[in-house]
Amino acid sequence: MHENAGNMKENNQERIFNLLRRQGSLTKQEIGTSLGLSMPTTLANVNELMEQGILEEGEAIESTGGRRARKIQVNGKSGFCVGIDITTSQVGFAVTNLMGEVAAKKSMPLKFQDEPKVYEQIGGGLEQVIKRGRFKNKLLGVGISFPGIIDMQAERIVQSHIFGLEYVSLDRFHKIIPYPIIVENDANCLSFVELKAERSDYVYISLNRTVGGAIIQKGQLMTGDGFRTGEIGHMVLVPGGRICYCGKKGCADAYLSPNVLTEEASLDVFFARLQEGEEETAKVWDRYLEHLAILATNLRMALDMEIVIGGEVGAYLEPYMNVLRKKASEYDKFARDIDYLHSISASRREHTGALGASLLALEVFGSSIIK
Ligand SMILES: [Zn+2]
Repeated sequence: MHENAGNMKENNQERIFNLLRRQGSLTKQEIGTSLGLSMPTTLANVNELMEQGILEEGEAIESTGGRRARKIQVNGKSGFCVGIDITTSQVGFAVTNLMGEVAAKKSMPLKFQDEPKVYEQIGGGLEQVIKRGRFKNKLLGVGISFPGIIDMQAERIVQSHIFGLEYVSLDRFHKIIPYPIIVENDANCLSFVELKAERSDYVYISLNRTVGGAIIQKGQLMTGDGFRTGEIGHMVLVPGGRICYCGKKGCADAYLSPNVLTEEASLDVFFARLQEGEEETAKVWDRYLEHLAILATNLRMALDMEIVIGGEVGAYLEPYMNVLRKKASEYDKFARDIDYLHSISASRREHTGALGASLLALEVFGSSIIK
């Protein structure tokens, strides 16, 4: 009996905490209504969380007289998570507070290899970030974005094409990181940048050097039988088409990686040329959008969800969304408008894998702050 009552209380506090973390500030009445809790239960739990310093009073509620009540919000500074983004050329770090706001950032050039000294360098970088921001006593967990297939149950990296790895134990990370950790595929981590109160079900397409994706349902990652959900870069778009780095022909990756646009120049240069109206560039871009429209509408057919397009190319996509939607309408005869297709906005260009990994850690470890 007692144990159940204890669990229930903890559960309600977690629910209140997560609701406010995602929604910002709410009145006590709104909290109760959203979660189906009675007023006395809501008040008791809110008060306890306020005593712990996890919740605080926010803006005043408009009122006609008397003492002005205030909305309740999460005290962002009461806890922090760190994200680490491991790529082929550098390691990025991002610290976010409980509201998902960036508190610190850092990156260091590092060529990742499965070698003890490389892990030690990553651990050293992490300690620097934590020390400089004095986050140590409030650190709840660390998320690691890694380009590969990760099995968190077996605690191992199953495979990483890009680093040529198979079956690497996550003990390597545990040894250098004395905090709770979650390691996740890079595209999966990136997808968390788009998780919002009003958007908790969506497909994320990551147009990065390796094209990937993630499917988020009710704010959680779908994992699948072999942790490969969302490996959309290797869906065949063109039978017998271009060779993909995975060895197959015609994969989406071979048509939608930024490499297709840049050859030796950068994406900035490519889009500048496009703006200037260069003919060959316009042709390349038109074909790119065509393939993207096919991929996106196929995903829509399978999943019937909102689709968010991010990654390096996603950051440049906003001005071309209408063209993309028009192309998509040729492949989707169910929808009247292609209003389910979104790009990340240009202001999110800075939203790196490290931020995504940190936000994922917040989803996983955030409520561990509740005593
Ligand atoms: Zn492939």
